[in-house]
Amino acid sequence: TTAPLSDLDIAQKIKLSPITEIAKKLGLDPEEIEMYGKFKAKLPLNNIDKEKVKQGNLILVSAISPTPAGEGKTTVSIGLSEALNRLGKKTTVVLREPSLGPVFGIKGGATGGGYSQVLPMEDINLHFTGDFSAIEKAHNLLAALVDNNIQSKVNNLGLDPRTISLKRVMDVNDRALRNIVIGLGGTGSGIPRESGFDITAASEIMAIMCLTENLEDLKGRLGNIFIGYTYDKKPIYARDLNAEGAMATLLKDALKPNLVQTVEGNPAIIHLGPFANIAQGTNSVIATRMGMSLSDYTVTEAGFGFDLGAEKFLDIKCQSAGLAPKVVVMTTTIRALKYHGGAPLSTLTIPNVEALIKGLPNLEKHLENAKLYNITPVIAINKFFSDSEEEIQVIFDLAKRLDIKVALSDGWAKGGEGALDLAAKVIEAIEENDAPFKPLYQWDQDVMTKIDTIAKKIYGAEKVEYAPKARKDLKTILDLDLDNLPICIAKTQKSLSDDPLLLGRPTGFTLNVREIQIAAGAGFLIPITGEMMRMPGLPAHPASENINIDLEGNISGLI
Ligand code: ADP
Ligand code: MG
Repeated sequence: TTAPLSDLDIAQKIKLSPITEIAKKLGLDPEEIEMYGKFKAKLPLNNIDKEKVKQGNLILVSAISPTPAGEGKTTVSIGLSEALNRLGKKTTVVLREPSLGPVFGIKGGATGGGYSQVLPMEDINLHFTGDFSAIEKAHNLLAALVDNNIQSKVNNLGLDPRTISLKRVMDVNDRALRNIVIGLGGTGSGIPRESGFDITAASEIMAIMCLTENLEDLKGRLGNIFIGYTYDKKPIYARDLNAEGAMATLLKDALKPNLVQTVEGNPAIIHLGPFANIAQGTNSVIATRMGMSLSDYTVTEAGFGFDLGAEKFLDIKCQSAGLAPKVVVMTTTIRALKYHGGAPLSTLTIPNVEALIKGLPNLEKHLENAKLYNITPVIAINKFFSDSEEEIQVIFDLAKRLDIKVALSDGWAKGGEGALDLAAKVIEAIEENDAPFKPLYQWDQDVMTKIDTIAKKIYGAEKVEYAPKARKDLKTILDLDLDNLPICIAKTQKSLSDDPLLLGRPTGFTLNVREIQIAAGAGFLIPITGEMMRMPGLPAHPASENINIDLEGNISGLI
């Protein structure tokens, strides 16, 4: 036997079509796109057609609570999109842009896997079209303006440096920069204060770019970024530093979604990528609307699991942009269900029907959650080589009992052909769907009610407790008149609860809110449960050790 092909090996075997050919499939002439080399292009915002968006079929791919490996939402999204195109449905897959953090850190990109990938995967996983860099520059410009103002004698706003939560950002995992002191070096080099770096994906500007409608709206949101308080307790926003014009100027191209292609030569739109645990974690509203404007079916992804990603997608992004998915594809893996049933991580490739059955309640809870929004879920079993027939049958039996559609998804091994059954089930579900989308809560409810609703209905908590800091934050939110914002709970993805060790379908637990951060520009509140990391570190053997490039420019060792 030969060694199995890596994702990069598979990607490098594919002969790419010129991006103009892919644009043609979307009805766009070469002069209607902005070329970034031969295989990438930006899509100008005038291609968005609000009427078409209203009628479009939006398919949301989410998942059960994942194992650390990821359960394959991106892979399933791409495979499903290929299959829908094979069935004659004009479909675009719309995804997030990878962050360099995981690419160089713990092996993992975000361009799918096997025969369900978006290409050119090397570029998409590395600098791509520079969107992350633009966000980093805009963010760091704002940070520089803040420290410049603290130093300035002329128009000093009187900012109390101890109240500033805005840090600087960079797209490399670097734990040594998490907490630092800036402004050292004497009177000419700023006022010393404690600060640090977050990873670029965790920047509020990333979250803003993903919710914004256009340049005008972008400037408004950038101006609303909350910086901190003056010594006499007056709130200061980015607009007080006249920052939003220059920031928006830096972001003008990053606002346009990127067009690339799938392994089978179908269109894929890839645009921006906010951190899924402290922000809404899905590609931009603009990209979703672009996909829906240019095709009849749009497949997009929200994760980690449904409790984190899809809840935010539905209650923040969909409510904000007037979008409503017609179906949720619940990505399920046998290995994750066995894990939830108590099987140790190291044994997940060994058939174990008993553990699988014990793990089913996790899947059932996520399916019930989808129904809370009046959305029909379809189960996609993302097939791994190690899955046994008997195990697969267990999930088909459950689906039958619950009267929910189910299909194997084998796009990883077979591309679109492996997801034809799933595509057929998704089309059926869309055609049968007549219930109107129902958000979980209304934005104008009070903050504690909104948090309570998510905690009890989605996570299954019995009650919510607030630490003293969180109570203080609640008061600040009221003082700043921001209580009408939606809620973006930061929680572990490993459990439906806020305790990563509670697997399966936990009940009777208390959700502990430590603090509530304010993203006034993005337009949401972030209750923090557990420890939240905004700047990850690298592992002892970072994936970067394997990455190389030869004299011909061929890249190796990437994912
Ligand atoms: P998610 O989007 O849920 O994080 P991904 O689609 O990125 O998950 O997949 C995570 C990893 O698992 C990727 O490296 C991918 O190649 C791999 N993977 C996904 N599906 C399969 C499968 N059916 N068989 C083997 N590997 C898979
Ligand atoms: Mg993904």
